[in-house]
Amino acid sequence: MSLKSSVKDLGITYKINAKKLEKLGVKTVEDLLLHIPFRYENLSLVSLITFLQPGEIITIKGKVLSIKNIFSKSGKKMQIALLEDSSGITQCIWFNQMFILRAIKQGDCLSLAGKVIVFQKKIAVLVSEYEILQDSQTKTIHTGRLVPVYPETRGMSSKWIRNRVKEILESHNNDFEEFLPEEIIKKQKLISLKDAIKQIHFPDNLKIAEEAKKRLAFDELFTVQLSAAYRKKEWKKKTTTYFLKISPFKQQIQKFWDSLSFRLTNAQNKAVEEIFSDLASHQPMNRLLEGDVGSGKTVVATIAMYLAYLNGLQSALMAPTEILANQHYETISNFLSPFGVKVGLVTGSKKLKAANHELRVMNQGEKHNSSFMIRDSEYFDILVGTHALIHEKVKFEKLGLAVIDEQQRFGVEQRTILRNKGKNPHFLTMTATPIPRTIFLTLYGDLDLSYLDEMPEGRKRVKTWLVPKTKREAAYEWIKRRMEEKDLPAGKQVKNESKNQVFIICPFIEESESMQTVKAAIKEYENLKNVIFKNYKLGLLHGKLRACEKQEVLENFRDGKLDMLVATPVVEVGIDIKNATIMLIEAADRFGLAQLHQLRGRVGRGEKQSYCLLFTESSSQKSIERLRCLETTHLGAELAELDLKLRGPGEVYGTIQHGLPSLKIASFSDFELIDETKKEAKKILPELSKHPKLLEKIKSYKAENISPD
Ligand code: ADP
Ligand code: MG
Repeated sequence: MSLKSSVKDLGITYKINAKKLEKLGVKTVEDLLLHIPFRYENLSLVSLITFLQPGEIITIKGKVLSIKNIFSKSGKKMQIALLEDSSGITQCIWFNQMFILRAIKQGDCLSLAGKVIVFQKKIAVLVSEYEILQDSQTKTIHTGRLVPVYPETRGMSSKWIRNRVKEILESHNNDFEEFLPEEIIKKQKLISLKDAIKQIHFPDNLKIAEEAKKRLAFDELFTVQLSAAYRKKEWKKKTTTYFLKISPFKQQIQKFWDSLSFRLTNAQNKAVEEIFSDLASHQPMNRLLEGDVGSGKTVVATIAMYLAYLNGLQSALMAPTEILANQHYETISNFLSPFGVKVGLVTGSKKLKAANHELRVMNQGEKHNSSFMIRDSEYFDILVGTHALIHEKVKFEKLGLAVIDEQQRFGVEQRTILRNKGKNPHFLTMTATPIPRTIFLTLYGDLDLSYLDEMPEGRKRVKTWLVPKTKREAAYEWIKRRMEEKDLPAGKQVKNESKNQVFIICPFIEESESMQTVKAAIKEYENLKNVIFKNYKLGLLHGKLRACEKQEVLENFRDGKLDMLVATPVVEVGIDIKNATIMLIEAADRFGLAQLHQLRGRVGRGEKQSYCLLFTESSSQKSIERLRCLETTHLGAELAELDLKLRGPGEVYGTIQHGLPSLKIASFSDFELIDETKKEAKKILPELSKHPKLLEKIKSYKAENISPD
């Protein structure tokens, strides 16, 4: 057994509860010991029975003289034990916990904590926690101390976790080997790792609990940053054979620019410059292109792929969903086929498997659904696809550039497989996830960043309103009127496709989409369809539908066969429906600002003015002020920064579809510690080889990083 062993190997209790543990992010012994309490219950006041005072929260220890069930005057079932210590006897009371009689027997040595009350004119203790002790010398876990309270999940209490941690701590605490160099420990005045692990769970006092937390937070931030710096250093050692020439192709590139119906924004121009300079280098590019939905990342990626083509190289573009891959395929074909670039599409890896030795690749000009088979020897300059791209049957002759859209939806392994289809190809990842700068620099210090902080000209902002509770009905009426409007200048023929369409987003009820969430969406859908919008055509979209069902609903919506789409927040990232001009978000207070911003990015994709209506049942002034930020702020990264300040990072990044790795112990808003650890990491990097334990830890560190290995 080691720290890296699976908790399932610890015994039957763990095996049974493995799923629940996994929900808490606990897979290994180490994970469990690093599942740290978020607060402590102070039950450290241990009292003798004779000194009990009504109102106190205390722990007492003694021998059970008797225990029995009784009915209170109001008919409630109570359990009452008489407990004796060296100073006296008192009653201890539970309500409605019949099983207590099976757990506690006369003669047991008991430690229990609770509130001192007066019951039937006598002093008594209303028990909140108890534990049976081997003998009066046994150390207590759940009472008589600072008791750790852990993040729980349904069916898994803090008490259960506490017991497990206690067991494992005893057998594994010594496995935590010190890996920090002595000088850092001294300079930062850190306590030892072993002490920190012990004290974070069962602290002697609150001060040392703080120190334990500081030590572990330091470790976490230091490791994250050092490993990013290390990856960057390693990456810089790579050389690519695919350094691209630019100047011989100036004319062709100019022609491509001239072919566009728009001019690049300054931000796009800067990104192109940065990317070109990377591509011309002997080291493979490793760059993240960040920009809000609609900021125009695709054309930036396209020109990079075009440059690769001009240099006689292939490119791959991987997107997380079939819909997105189709969309990219169409866009890129439109951009580049006039220049003779051959673009292909690969989707559906299952079909690939079944297809023996053939690829399911769609050719230029074919419709989505009439894809056809080609030999795997067929040559494409650019291959767009889903995960199917990394299927072993997809081969590239000369992969010069790999582009990944919505990078957070892919794992490191997938990125690595794609990378390995070429010889150190250039790597461009794109994301619309608004990552605050602080977080980017902490987590992704190994990447270079191009940031599109500007939207194309003429793009209308999505007008956003927080709708007060009292105006719900009025808002529905307003939506109906908008749907009736055809939004065309008077006199022009009214075309069906110019009708305004509406998204209605129901909130997640749990952290990720659960059956419960889906049920809530279905209920809302039924209600809207049968009552409020009964004269309209409504569709329903949620994550539990099959891919083909989702596709159908979306296509119907896109084709104007549906007026409204009721959806869970899983609405495919990046879908582009020009007539969707209204988004209504229920229980908006359950989302982060950045998330809401991403959601509203799905309207306003066309010429028309679009609207986002935020509904909330919350009357908390803080929530309302927070949501109001959306009315005035329209840049994702800025809203993410606000989230960080207003809600704290746990809530921003622990949740829904962000896919950003979250910190377990440290906090992204601890700017000081981030700074401190960064400095230490920078200092130690050049002499990392002198610290073998640290080097080993850094090498084996598997953060959800972006860089492929
Ligand atoms: P995203 O960054 O979300 O991937 P896209 O690349 O899909 O954004 O761009 C959104 C839309 O904006 C596309 O229709 C694209 O052709 C258009 N576009 C991109 N750049 C500009 C620009 N500089 N001016 C006007 N429209 C642009
Ligand atoms: Mg995009």
